[in-house]
Amino acid sequence: MAGLQTACVAERITHWIGGKPWSGTSQRQAPVFDPASGAVSGQVDLASADVVDEAVAAASAAFPQWRDASLTRRSQVLFAFRELLNARKEELAAIITAEHGKVLSDALGEVTRGLEVVEFACGIPHLLKGGFSENASTGVDVYSIRQPLGVVGIISPFNFPAMVPMWFFPVAIACGNAVVLKPSEKDPSAAVWLADLWAEAGLPDGVFTVVHGDKEAVDALLEHPEVRSISFVGSTPIARYVYETGTAHGKRVQALGGAKNHMVVLPDADLDLAADAAVNAGFGSAGERCMAISAIVAVDPVGDELVAKIRERMAGLRVGDGRRGADMGPLITREHRDKVASYLDAGTDAGARLVVDGREHEVDGGADGFWLGPSLFDHATPDMSIYRDEIFGPVLTVLRAGSYAEALGMVNANSYGNGTAIFTNDGGAARRYQNEVEVGMVGINVPIPVPMAYYSFGGWKNSLFGDSHAHGTEGVHFFTRGKVITSRWLDPSHGGINLGFPTQT
Ligand code: NAD
Repeated sequence: MAGLQTACVAERITHWIGGKPWSGTSQRQAPVFDPASGAVSGQVDLASADVVDEAVAAASAAFPQWRDASLTRRSQVLFAFRELLNARKEELAAIITAEHGKVLSDALGEVTRGLEVVEFACGIPHLLKGGFSENASTGVDVYSIRQPLGVVGIISPFNFPAMVPMWFFPVAIACGNAVVLKPSEKDPSAAVWLADLWAEAGLPDGVFTVVHGDKEAVDALLEHPEVRSISFVGSTPIARYVYETGTAHGKRVQALGGAKNHMVVLPDADLDLAADAAVNAGFGSAGERCMAISAIVAVDPVGDELVAKIRERMAGLRVGDGRRGADMGPLITREHRDKVASYLDAGTDAGARLVVDGREHEVDGGADGFWLGPSLFDHATPDMSIYRDEIFGPVLTVLRAGSYAEALGMVNANSYGNGTAIFTNDGGAARRYQNEVEVGMVGINVPIPVPMAYYSFGGWKNSLFGDSHAHGTEGVHFFTRGKVITSRWLDPSHGGINLGFPTQT
């Protein structure tokens, strides 16, 4: 693919501006790693404010024509993109695994969930239908339309280099906007690959732009007068910063932040199902998922039996290179691996019981890879940092609660509110939890309740700043502005002067 020179030696990964790879020289670069070997696989250009200007200018120039492209034309391009992506999804999954480290099947799962949003956006003619009221007043019709915003910015995290951008850009493009995506500098290649695919699908140059970078590029986007909105996903402190800075610059902002997702296990739950779910949702993608289960609240008396079942399953997990059939891959960087490992000491020092220590897990991967096996704490309490902080790694923490009410109180007192799950065979208890819990996405005997593309994704409390969740109808609303038209075609009988405020007659 043009613009993406992946190979086993460190290759340059550059921006995608005006429908092609950027041809300038970057003042700054950052290394990109293969987390399974620890080797540097690429050098990514980091955009200065000038490069961001260049990118936004290209997007602004492309916008008027794309805004006026018919709904038929826009949906044809989306369908073409969908077909290409579906046919070549293994290629994209391999790129994700090489830079992120997640196992291939998981990378493919991420692409599939992104594809669902593309499929949702293919229905844009239906989604953009407005309302029409004939004869709202005598001889007067009123109707509503939704129009695109213009240039829209997307800033995404490392943990889903394809899916998270795809929560936003298919909908934004379908609505007639021009997108500038700033992916994570830790795994930037997926974004460039997707840009090349858009070109192949027939999207006009400049409608999809990629700028790589760090805080400098983010700030340039947040402050740029021609960028109308920001869709951000990342850690809570940066999400808060992006929301405050973006809105202060007059932009519409949706900023999705971090998480601490609880799984409440009631005494009547099927404990084998719950233990399977805890292991899958806790250690999939090495715990680097915003919807990962990281805290299990075991309601008396199930704690001991549940912990034993989870421990038994953890022993069988194959940790290793994601290209070689492992269950769980490495962490994203050496620094992040060390930070996650430091919580194993912090939890022990605070008095939690480290039932399984991931540092001792056998690994099938390069000696310098960023490895940490799955770990399990029991008897943690809400004051401990292993519970309060988002660890974002393969560490499951079990807390004990004496009753449903105590478990619910713990979940609701937590500062995050992204996802949660309850495991029970009692429909009444599940229904009560769904009603009482202060969390945006709830699973009932489902550990990772990521909504389908036609619903909207988003958390509560410190897990989301702004009013709109991602994709679904909220996504369509976020990427468009409403307009209402009141129209009367000339009718001589309605002439005359009347200075009163218009009312229906
Ligand atoms: P991050 O906050 O470090 O980075 C996210 C984006 O912000 C990246 O593009 C990065 O380049 C940029 N950035 C980093 N530091 C910045 C700064 N000081 N100023 C401005 N921009 C900056 O997040 P990450 O480590 O890439 O991703 C993991 C985090 O994302 C976790 O907290 C996870 O929970 C969260 N996440 C949340 C969701 C959700 O739906 N709520 C989904 C995926 C990930």
